[in-house]
Amino acid sequence: MTDAVESFGFDHRTLTAPFIRIAGSGLGGCNISKYDLRFVTPNQGSMDTDGLHSLEHMLAVAIREHRKGVVDISPMGCRTGFYLTEIGAPDLMGIGESLRKALEGILDFASVPAANEEQCGNWKDHDLLKAKGYARLFLAALK
Ligand code: ZN
Repeated sequence: MTDAVESFGFDHRTLTAPFIRIAGSGLGGCNISKYDLRFVTPNQGSMDTDGLHSLEHMLAVAIREHRKGVVDISPMGCRTGFYLTEIGAPDLMGIGESLRKALEGILDFASVPAANEEQCGNWKDHDLLKAKGYARLFLAALK
């Protein structure tokens, strides 16, 4: 049963964050690729819920400015990163460049998009500065 879950099949002790990993492609016979955007080394910490939530909102906007086929970007339950799913073949270099641009753009955000009762399911649980801090940590590792 768990064999079908890609992330259960790799050893989380072997990788140090931040990193970008292809977590699947050709899913269901479709031209869809999934990426593991890992901000925190597994089992070495996690992002605070409010900062992670804000970073999710900001990435949802910012990554689409640089990628055309984005289906979804969602936080991992372990709070160490995000899964990005998009239409297209795996493009690790392109994802890295797009993520760099998106994170640089996030540093200029004056507020968290859609952080209100109408557009969010837990709108009081946000922290813009923490989210920018997580973005800075990933960017520092990319340079
Ligand atoms: Zn929300």
